[in-house]
Amino acid sequence: MQLIEEKIKNLCEELKQHNYNYYVLDNPTISDFEFDIKLKELQQLEEQYPQFADPNSPTQRVGGMVTDSFKTVVHKHRMYSLDNSYSEDDIKDWITRVKKILGVDTIDYTCELKYDGASINLVYENYKLIRAETRGDGIQGDDVTNNIRTIKSIPLTVKKDFLNTFEVRGEIVIPFSGFKKMNEERIKNGEDPYMNPRNTASGSLKLKDSAEVAKRPLDCLIYQVVTEENTFQTHFQSLQKVRKAGFKVPNEIEVCNSVNEIMEYIHKWDKKRFELPYETDGIVIKVNNIHYQNELGYTAKAPRWAIAYKFKAEQVSTELKSVDYQIGRTGAVTPVANLKPVALGGTIVKRASLHNADQINKLDLHEKDTVFVEKGGEIIPKIIGVDISKRKENAKKIEFITACPACGTTLIRKEGEAQHYCPNEYGCKPQIVGKIQHFIARKAMNIEGIGAETVELFYDANLIKNYADLYDLTLEDLLPLERIALKSAQNILEGLEASKKIPFERVLFALGIRFVGETVAKKLAKRFKNISAIQKADFETLIAVDEIGERIAKSVIDFFNEPYNIEIINRLKNHGLQFEVVEINTSISNKLEGLNFVVSGVFEKFSRNELKKSIEDHGGKNVSSLSKKTNYLIAGDKMGPAKKIRAEKLQIPIITEDDYLKMIN
Ligand code: AMP
Ligand code: ZN
Repeated sequence: MQLIEEKIKNLCEELKQHNYNYYVLDNPTISDFEFDIKLKELQQLEEQYPQFADPNSPTQRVGGMVTDSFKTVVHKHRMYSLDNSYSEDDIKDWITRVKKILGVDTIDYTCELKYDGASINLVYENYKLIRAETRGDGIQGDDVTNNIRTIKSIPLTVKKDFLNTFEVRGEIVIPFSGFKKMNEERIKNGEDPYMNPRNTASGSLKLKDSAEVAKRPLDCLIYQVVTEENTFQTHFQSLQKVRKAGFKVPNEIEVCNSVNEIMEYIHKWDKKRFELPYETDGIVIKVNNIHYQNELGYTAKAPRWAIAYKFKAEQVSTELKSVDYQIGRTGAVTPVANLKPVALGGTIVKRASLHNADQINKLDLHEKDTVFVEKGGEIIPKIIGVDISKRKENAKKIEFITACPACGTTLIRKEGEAQHYCPNEYGCKPQIVGKIQHFIARKAMNIEGIGAETVELFYDANLIKNYADLYDLTLEDLLPLERIALKSAQNILEGLEASKKIPFERVLFALGIRFVGETVAKKLAKRFKNISAIQKADFETLIAVDEIGERIAKSVIDFFNEPYNIEIINRLKNHGLQFEVVEINTSISNKLEGLNFVVSGVFEKFSRNELKKSIEDHGGKNVSSLSKKTNYLIAGDKMGPAKKIRAEKLQIPIITEDDYLKMIN
């Protein structure tokens, strides 16, 4: 028996090594045929002696698990987006900012390619892959582990000389060669070919049958290791180490230490990128020192320690067929151009955004014009110009509409605003439906069981005319609807019931007051604590709140001046929604009220984030760079010397973590 167990283990190890040689190193040392024979042998042994079968055996790469719905998982570390830059000046500005915050003069940067696929977070515990998560909204994503386990360049177990517990991030891509083969196969089978590798890669992650995923030529290129603080000194080093542990880390990464070197890298790859086996859409520049990265931290959206440089977008020309006008939930009118379909950046483009009336006038757009279209960062491409030489004789100028296409009301345009609006707020279908769709959305009331189409369905069936009506829905209302079965009807009612626990700040956001986004709703809730205080607040009181300007204040006042809104709020109150802040003693004290802190260096008693949280818990504020307004610099080990000099120049007291502890205790 001992012998069999060992044999299985050895075969496993041997085949893992061959997979690694083939898929990570692109350097196979045995033929496919020999590999298959060994794999079959292992399969047979595992079937015969299931007690010795390893769940991470190479035989498990063929998939077979079917996932009906992907579980949502909250990322342990948020998956941020990247800020974009388009010119040398943007990069210079970024470098200046970074140096200013860090207070140092020379910094190393890594330059690497920006792989164009779908991001993935791989979680390892005890040397084993335990979960793979899509980026989702950055805070939570989908658990796609079963599918990811079929990708052979991702090790299911790592060598014991690497870390035991860590996360790595990478991009799931389909190399051009595999993509081409896949499409040839599809055409042979009479199926439509896929449009581009990126969408196909990201679509593959969400396939239900992992055996299907196993057949796709997916690859995973690693670009980040996420570990506890201080595991690695530099980003470059962390990537070298993780490559040794068995991951595929592309070799094009370089360390640069000046704008010139960075620009050289960019120019080189702007041309050479077409020789790479996979698609790229830019360069990512990162501060190499991980200690500096921690010091720089994150904005609401992206790390301050990295910036992407986007390769210039491809441009094409095509014919304008017509212009449509869409009405948003606030009544704003957005013109959209319908185009003669044209291939652009790997996809077929049929529509382009025109923004507003001024944009149309600026382009001097005429019927059937030939237009230049470009794909920037946004999903929907833009029209950037008109080829006047191709203008048809007697072509009429495109005139912006004067009446709402949905309800016929005359459009208005307020002073100083670029957008036209349909003022029929409570009688125009796209506005009514849009407001309810906003209300149920995940970041607002997050009502399970109701999606955007369900809202439209309910509206069309005359069941709802505003979001308060949702809470009057009964099983009897829902069951006669064609697309709603008993189970989903029950889900909807349960979802509505559960939403009554959603905290006030999100209810406030859900109300859809113009210009009151998530952040503003939070600020208002924090300052006023309940809805009637907000309702009573006058203009002066409102604009005194941090980040609330005149435009927002006016919109809030307008909203509460409308009796219809008050009536709806009263109904929601009666249904038991949260209209006041439930204090859960978030601030432990207010000892640091009014004080601004800069935190720099490595600490013994706190991690940097714990220290920052503690400052906030006691009513203080964290700021990222030293200025006259800074009250204290809390200095840990390894703080940059320039920071010290700057603090001294500004006469900002430099304190230790022990001094800080004394302040709060
Ligand atoms: P964006 O989606 O444009 O905000 O860019 C952020 C995404 O770029 C990340 O989520 C990654 O999936 C992707 N990415 C591709 N290559 C890299 C790289 N070398 N470093 C960091 N992110 C990358
Ligand atoms: Zn209208």
